Amino acid sequence: MELIGADHPQYDVLRRLALPQYRAIRPAAIARCADPSDVAEALTYARAHALPVALRGGGHCFAGRSSTTGLLLDLSALNSVSVADGQAAIGAGARLADVYRGLHEHRLTIPAGCGPTVGIAGLTLGGGLGLLGRRYGLTCDRLVGATVVLADGRVVECSDEQEPDLFWALRGAGGGQFGVVTSLVFAAVPSPTATRFTLTYPRDRAAAVIAAWQSWAPDAPDHLTASLAVTADEVRVFGAAVGDADFGELASLDPAVELRDGLSWPELKRSFSDEDVQDDRVVYSKSEFFGSPLPCDTIAQLLAAGCELGFTPMGGAYNRVPADATAFAHRGERFLLEHASPDRTAVRRSWSIAHPHASGRLYPNFPDPYLTDLIAYHGGNYERLLAIKQAYDPDHIFGGLR
Ligand SMILES: Cc1cc2nc3c(=O)[nH]c(=O)nc-3n(C[C@H](O)[C@H](O)[C@H](O)COP(=O)(O)OP(=O)(O)OC[C@H]3O[C@@H](n4cnc5c(N)ncnc54)[C@H](O)[C@@H]3O)c2cc1C
Repeated sequence: MELIGADHPQYDVLRRLALPQYRAIRPAAIARCADPSDVAEALTYARAHALPVALRGGGHCFAGRSSTTGLLLDLSALNSVSVADGQAAIGAGARLADVYRGLHEHRLTIPAGCGPTVGIAGLTLGGGLGLLGRRYGLTCDRLVGATVVLADGRVVECSDEQEPDLFWALRGAGGGQFGVVTSLVFAAVPSPTATRFTLTYPRDRAAAVIAAWQSWAPDAPDHLTASLAVTADEVRVFGAAVGDADFGELASLDPAVELRDGLSWPELKRSFSDEDVQDDRVVYSKSEFFGSPLPCDTIAQLLAAGCELGFTPMGGAYNRVPADATAFAHRGERFLLEHASPDRTAVRRSWSIAHPHASGRLYPNFPDPYLTDLIAYHGGNYERLLAIKQAYDPDHIFGGLR
């Protein structure tokens, strides 16, 4: 383990790898970990110096849980990607761009998100929504094993056969709660060729587009994932199809249509987000799941409230897994709605308009720092998760469930 203090030249670089709103937080020290024994050593150090710990993969936690004034465990050196027998072994510090590139060399991939610098561990431990998800499920649904350093420094392998309760909890309860994952093994899927599509509409057609989208996208064929974004200027329906792209009623609302055929999976992912572009804007957001469509008058009020709105479709393979089969409890939802703005009050107002129609459930990977009702993240899985937390982290070395 390399211990990096505030006087080390790398200290500020590593500390700042978080979302902009958490970049000012200064850890007492940063432990750079390259293998499970480094992680165990870091946990011993934290205990000896009575320091709280935070674990960091890609540093994208919306609630700042991978930042601390105590000991920050930086896992970015654990970034290997290898393939054997159709299974992908991925170091917990790898970022999604590394994962897609590494697996594509074997003509494989996994269903996972679009942000190229998002960490594979944080994404997987909280679920993992992405453009192949309606076909193959959450990222965590493809997880078949993991190596974990427990709070007491023991290193365990977990799977359906070994430490099955821990393995269940790792699939969708949210990162940083049960132990430090050092590597993940996934059942990979073929890396497809896809069509990227964007349907752009003028902003004044937003109400009609949202109404058409919400009754179509969650029930679209599994090979097609269409998200919806409403900004101050326009409305966009965008996503990918691994096969025919048919847009139902949305096509009749007269969009400008852009199609890019024949993209390899890494090309498609890059087309959505460039890993070299760093966005330093502070944007606040709040989100919830919805199990039924929003009424027309609510849509009108939301549009008047002025936040950016992002709709992500659920359904398909996400919802074919029983809610208690993994820790991810949200298996009957139709979509996720995110409200975003640099103005936190505006976000709260927009969220309050939609909230009466929501299912009251939250995606663990979009945590809300102000939410105290943890059942919203875990639904009927909450009690089992509490028992697993008590068994694996009785002294609350890691954060989360109480
Ligand atoms: C730009 C952007 C794009 C996104 N795109 C998507 C998307 O397409 N699909 C989607 O589902 N989500 C998406 N998200 C949300 C994303 O899944 C979560 O923010 C996720 O938690 C990020 O993981 P991370 O490793 O990057 O972040 P971190 O902040 O490093 O970690 C997130 C949480 O996991 C814990 N953790 C990290 N590593 C480990 C480990 N090895 N062992 C145990 N716990 C660990 C941390 O302590 C923290 O609590 C996006 C977020 C952003 C900011």
